[in-house]
Amino acid sequence: MTAEIIDGKAFALSLRERVGEVAAAFEAKAGRKAGLAVVLVGEDPASQVYVRSKGKATLAANMLSFEHKLPVDTAEADLLALVEKLNNDPSVDGILVQLPLPSHVDEQTVIAAISPDKDVDGFHVTNAGRLAVGQEGFVPCTPLGCIMLLTDRLGDLSGLDAVVVGRSNIVGKPMAQLLVQQNATVTLAHSRTKNLPEVVRRADIVIAAVGRAEMVKADWLKPGATVIDVGINRLPPADGAEKGKLVGDVAFAEASEVAGAITPVPGGVGPMTIAVLLRNTLVAAHRNEGIAMPDGAL
Ligand code: NDP
Repeated sequence: MTAEIIDGKAFALSLRERVGEVAAAFEAKAGRKAGLAVVLVGEDPASQVYVRSKGKATLAANMLSFEHKLPVDTAEADLLALVEKLNNDPSVDGILVQLPLPSHVDEQTVIAAISPDKDVDGFHVTNAGRLAVGQEGFVPCTPLGCIMLLTDRLGDLSGLDAVVVGRSNIVGKPMAQLLVQQNATVTLAHSRTKNLPEVVRRADIVIAAVGRAEMVKADWLKPGATVIDVGINRLPPADGAEKGKLVGDVAFAEASEVAGAITPVPGGVGPMTIAVLLRNTLVAAHRNEGIAMPDGAL
């Protein structure tokens, strides 16, 4: 069997186009553009790249982008003051503080300071609680993107066995909640799970969100399973190369021989994260203005 490749890049592109159309319609109704504020503290190169691409994508989707770049030695109190200012700024619908933050700043304190109604990353405990009890809120972008890819491919997930490997607050746990909401039967596995390959072999849907290069092997998979690989790992550079290859948490080549469908790395889940961030920002803008989202648009 050779798995169908789930093209997250193409899906994300079409989602971004739809966001752009709905954002233009929002502007016409609200008399202003939706706005996303991104806060970056310090000069971590990977974070700089993420912030730059988020800014570009926001503008391309007919929304305003407010970038706040603060020096690495910014005091926590000053960062909290900026968050408070953004909470009170009516032109800002979504606030994203790029993680990781420098070690002298407490991430949880900063996330807790963001208004839950502008927390488009869905990291605030209020939004985690809303997801847990099934209330409307904001869901972290990466797992929401995974659910979009899954329902696009499989339609109804009712009764399917899903195994999520990894229980972080930003990927694994919300992923499990979303799958339960979709009526899948969910196992949430982690580093203490016994007989992990055996557990994964039961799954119709496998979500790998671990951060270990190519950990999930072909013989861990039920033939025909749908595999969503969230992992982003850089292998050591091959001789003479400047950078190592990017790989996921699934051994892609061999897994493709067994799975029914699989996301590649790169080009699978990764591009969905920014597209869903834009989607969440646009949803926030509609809620902030009391304007209904067009039916079934996103
Ligand atoms: P974390 O490090 O926060 O969590 C990793 C999870 O994997 C933990 O729950 C841990 O278990 C579990 N784990 C670690 N080792 C094993 C093992 N040997 N067997 C089973 N489970 C194990 O990572 P994140 O959730 O933040 O990210 C996971 C991956 O997804 C990373 O590669 C990251 O780069 C990527 N990522 C990709 C995004 C995208 O946009 N595509 C966005 C976010 C993350 P325990 O809790 O027991 O320690």
